[in-house]
Amino acid sequence: MRLLKSFTLAACTLAATSVAAEEVVVYSARIEQLIRPLFEAYTSETGVTVKYVTDREGPLLEKLKAEGTSTPADLLLTVDAGNLWQAAQLGLLQPAQSKVLEANVPAHLRDPGGQWYGLTVRARTIVYNKEKVRPSELSTYEALGDPKWKDRLCLRTSKSVYNQSLTAMMIAEQGDAKTEGIISSWVANLGVPVFPSDNKVLEAIAAGQCDVGITNSYYLGRMLAKTPELPLAPFWPDQAKSGVHVNVSGAGITRHAGNAQGALRLLEWLSTPAAQKIYADANMEYPVNPAVAPDPIVAGWGSFKQNPFNVSKAGELQAAAVRLMDRAGYR
Ligand code: FE
Repeated sequence: MRLLKSFTLAACTLAATSVAAEEVVVYSARIEQLIRPLFEAYTSETGVTVKYVTDREGPLLEKLKAEGTSTPADLLLTVDAGNLWQAAQLGLLQPAQSKVLEANVPAHLRDPGGQWYGLTVRARTIVYNKEKVRPSELSTYEALGDPKWKDRLCLRTSKSVYNQSLTAMMIAEQGDAKTEGIISSWVANLGVPVFPSDNKVLEAIAAGQCDVGITNSYYLGRMLAKTPELPLAPFWPDQAKSGVHVNVSGAGITRHAGNAQGALRLLEWLSTPAAQKIYADANMEYPVNPAVAPDPIVAGWGSFKQNPFNVSKAGELQAAAVRLMDRAGYR
């Protein structure tokens, strides 16, 4: 009896120690500069240490796969619903149900099975040169295939997951044949070969190499924050139809998390207004929580109707999108 008592006491002491030293480990495809301020705020609020490893998407998923049950990672943080969907598909995440997350993250911006949740929103929208194009000349994504944009359109390569997700969402919404027709008409209007990044597309539009293009909203926000005089502006397409294509950065609890409870508490906190503000503003994105306002530069672009299709479609239809873009000659 005495032995049992002292054993129980020892176990309690151990539990108390491990609570005091609680730690959550995050594998992040987002760079340190975007996440450090966020995790520092979490630690000062809760006392919980957040350790993180940053790397590119591919190597992080490989690492998680290779480590299996012995992974130190509790949470995977990455960008694009296509990537989050893939992590779930590979069996690297586990479902989490949470009233907080359901309240803070709109339904179309999270996995219907709860394996990942969007945390910031980025619009993949039209950007134009204000000195060459009037907004009244623009209307829909589809209309960028109109002959009036011949040799005036710039696009990033189809190898980018962002364009694969955009195409996948267009297939979900309009079907294969219609989408292929639209993508082909864009390719026919390209003024210069496709670019390796969204930033290069924006630079080309600003330099007058082309007049319109499609990029993620935060690249524009970052560029205008640095160089406000650039003649660039966003246009919100498809407002009379189903809305602007949006995507997310987001996170999910790893399948073999040693501290799944801690990961869930961090994930819930990331969806709350104070954290949303820090996280979204660090990269000029939109907070996923509709109660939080974006950075003033981003807010200045006005509000817009978002395409309500669940972003998980970007993953489900990614392979079909890649094949379609290839058929359409989009390199
Ligand atoms: Fe990006």
